[in-house]
Amino acid sequence: MAYAEKARSHYSNELTLIKEAGLFKEERYIKSPQMAKIKVEFPAGAPSKEVLNFCANNYLGLSSHPEVVEAAHKGLDSHGYGMSSVRFICGTQDIHRELEAKLSEFLETEDTVLFPSCMEANAGLFEVSLDKDDAMISDRLVHASIVDGMRLSKAQLYNYKHLNMDHLEEKLQETQSCRLRMIITDGVFSMDGDIAPLEKICDLADKYDAMVTVDDSHSTGFLGKHGKGTHEHCGVLGRIDAITTTLGKALGGAAGGCISGRKEIVELCRQRARPYLFSNTVPPVVIAASIKVIELISKSTDRRNKLEENTKYFREKMTQAGLDIRPGVHPIVPVMLYNAKLAQNVARDLYEEGIYAVGFFFPVVPQGQARIRIQISADHEREHLDKAVAAFTKVGGKYNILGKKKDEVIALYGM
Ligand SMILES: *Cc1c(COP(=O)(O)O)cnc(C)c1O
Repeated sequence: MAYAEKARSHYSNELTLIKEAGLFKEERYIKSPQMAKIKVEFPAGAPSKEVLNFCANNYLGLSSHPEVVEAAHKGLDSHGYGMSSVRFICGTQDIHRELEAKLSEFLETEDTVLFPSCMEANAGLFEVSLDKDDAMISDRLVHASIVDGMRLSKAQLYNYKHLNMDHLEEKLQETQSCRLRMIITDGVFSMDGDIAPLEKICDLADKYDAMVTVDDSHSTGFLGKHGKGTHEHCGVLGRIDAITTTLGKALGGAAGGCISGRKEIVELCRQRARPYLFSNTVPPVVIAASIKVIELISKSTDRRNKLEENTKYFREKMTQAGLDIRPGVHPIVPVMLYNAKLAQNVARDLYEEGIYAVGFFFPVVPQGQARIRIQISADHEREHLDKAVAAFTKVGGKYNILGKKKDEVIALYGM
């Protein structure tokens, strides 16, 4: 059937509405590998420009690390390009099992199963592990992929106010009659860099006989003394029943995800999780490079230590310069601007100064909470951090927001 005029005008109206609301997302073309310094073409067709990247999830600077790239080349040579199969038919190579074992060892869990992405790990987990007599009790601000994954499960859905342990306890009391219960949270919340209080969550889980699932995509590889993640940072190694995480951020940043935790849950996911059964296996080249990543971060904590130092330095300097940043210890550093237009203008001016960072505003964050989310990397050198602070100071001065509190910025620019 022809693409009817009715359909065409419906879709183009939708696109016009997105543009009119100022929500249309323009992609910038990067013409170099992912690292601290990148070459960007923006707007499309403009001459490319070298800028410092402050918005990648490349926390450990491993995305283009020479040893990781070399391991990928070797994996390509030894294990080929594609598997043309899902895992259970003919898509499991020796290296897939090797990576799963290495992840279990690193995360200190019983077993691990790989998925094409963490989004798909979340799409599989709750449907497989919980049924209609069970309950999912999630933090209200969990990642979109968890929200979607929970929708696929028949289990009853409850949520608690963000990080609010009293409210979580109320929900645990409300659901006492359910067969199985799972508390579900992000380890670190991506918009604010908030860290979930996993020790209290595990204590409540013990008290009420519930399980705990943590999506640790924004912590695996660098949070905690050995970079194992939020469970190490919070001192609850071995107490999390299921960790979902990604290979697409700190761990080389290519693609792939996993569920790591209790061996029965992991095995049941191998048997039944639909994204595992019906989507292609993670390509060997990614697996080979990921094995190298786990080796590198198991052998030395230098990169996570440097990331920690960089983060501390940047947070201090930004605070001294009078920028309003959300306090914390995570390399996600939200620079609060409150007003959407202001966030966009500041991001544009930073780009002129050679700093690549993007404005986040409604609906990605709540109304009146617009910000620029800076992400620090172990790939950043002191001079990069200083350059970013200088750019923020210059642009912040231009908009007259240095040293200003939330109310004062809102008085100037509105919400
Ligand atoms: C990035 C992210 C994901 C998605 O990971 P992919 O492997 O890219 O699908 C899932 N959950 C959280 C919390 C994330 O930050």
